[in-house]
Amino acid sequence: MGKVLIIGAGGVGTVVAHKVAQNADVFTDIMIASRTKSKCDDIVKAIGNPAIKTARVDADNVDELVALFNDFKPEMVINVALPYQDLTIMEACLQAGVNYLDTANYEPKDKAHFEYSWQWAYHDRFKEAGLTAILGCGFDPGVSGIFTAYAAKHYFDEIHYLDIVDCNAGDHHKAFATNFNPEINIREITQKGRYYENGEWVETGSLEIHQPITYPNIGPKESYLLYHEELESLVKHYPTIKRARFWMTFGQEYLTHLRVIQNIGMARIDEIDYNGQKIVPIQFLKAVLPNPQDLGENYTGETSIGCRIQGIKDGKERTYYVYNNCSHEAAYKETGMQGVSYTTGVPAMIGALMFFKGEWKRAGVNNVEEFNPDPFMEQLNKQGLPWHEEFDLNLEV
Ligand code: NDP
Repeated sequence: MGKVLIIGAGGVGTVVAHKVAQNADVFTDIMIASRTKSKCDDIVKAIGNPAIKTARVDADNVDELVALFNDFKPEMVINVALPYQDLTIMEACLQAGVNYLDTANYEPKDKAHFEYSWQWAYHDRFKEAGLTAILGCGFDPGVSGIFTAYAAKHYFDEIHYLDIVDCNAGDHHKAFATNFNPEINIREITQKGRYYENGEWVETGSLEIHQPITYPNIGPKESYLLYHEELESLVKHYPTIKRARFWMTFGQEYLTHLRVIQNIGMARIDEIDYNGQKIVPIQFLKAVLPNPQDLGENYTGETSIGCRIQGIKDGKERTYYVYNNCSHEAAYKETGMQGVSYTTGVPAMIGALMFFKGEWKRAGVNNVEEFNPDPFMEQLNKQGLPWHEEFDLNLEV
């Protein structure tokens, strides 16, 4: 019934593959394709289901993608390669008549800048083709938007203030490592901060604004204001929002390493000449940093990601906090990956499950908050990411 193609065999791709395989009643035919086929084969071995097919594909190349799609004939592609490949994969989906889902919005390689306009521009073509595209279906973006949609549907007449709070209180016992692709992660964190207030975007210095925020079962952690892509779609879809911000925790050790990396030019994304060879410093850095896929083994502690919301219901002010805590150790036991890959991969699988069950089917390009959040919230509890809610408490933000 459900033929699915996963593109990307990194930390997130590994989790998606495990979870898709666990839901065999819906996903009856599975293929994993990536730039390095051996990584796909290793995932299949770890899952222990030889019926899962693998293939090599360069997802920067539309023709190669179309050939693969026409050969395997998936109903949906789950794109968990890198944000650079979003547009080529969407283009190939249109050419081969395949539905699409991803977890991160498009970024051009030569500019650390992300926004939805490039992908939203595909809306009419997906609509005319009768194909569904689901954008940003990881945890944040992803569950952060679904939490907001759930709050708007059940608890608020108007949302006024939205703060997405993302804490990783885990310890991987390495001096410095990133929890997902280092290149994408460092590009995201070193850019200027930005938040939305009274109809305008306010720009801040990189990690300039910070404050302690208390996370459940963890305690207070210094949290830094960053720009995050779901802010763009959420303020569009919930126009009553007066202010929307995104916060993420970082330890001092991480920030010191990051500052040094930037100061010595290793975060540069332009090409430099080294001994007659062109290299991009941040790509070289990725090659020497720990692979996020290998962090899981001794990772202790947990993540805590949620939405803190203030608004009105029946004319009265109220606050609402909805969150999930995820243990790195439990994630590793189940999938061999740490909690950050897990919290991204599980929602990507659930998004595809929603599509195959007919709950989330709408021709065009859609952000997750445009769909009914209820069946997705139900699946989060069943698939390893249970959530909790608190009402009318001090939100701290
Ligand atoms: P990894 O770097 O671990 O994995 C990326 C995979 O994509 C690798 O297998 C890589 O191949 C493959 N790939 C890269 N380029 C190509 C290409 N041109 N053609 C085919 N395959 C390619 O990244 P993660 O698993 O950590 O992250 C995956 C995605 O998830 C990213 O887009 C990231 O931004 C997103 N993400 C989203 C989050 C959310 O909550 N929404 C949170 C965390 C991540 P190879 O192994 O050969 O390099």
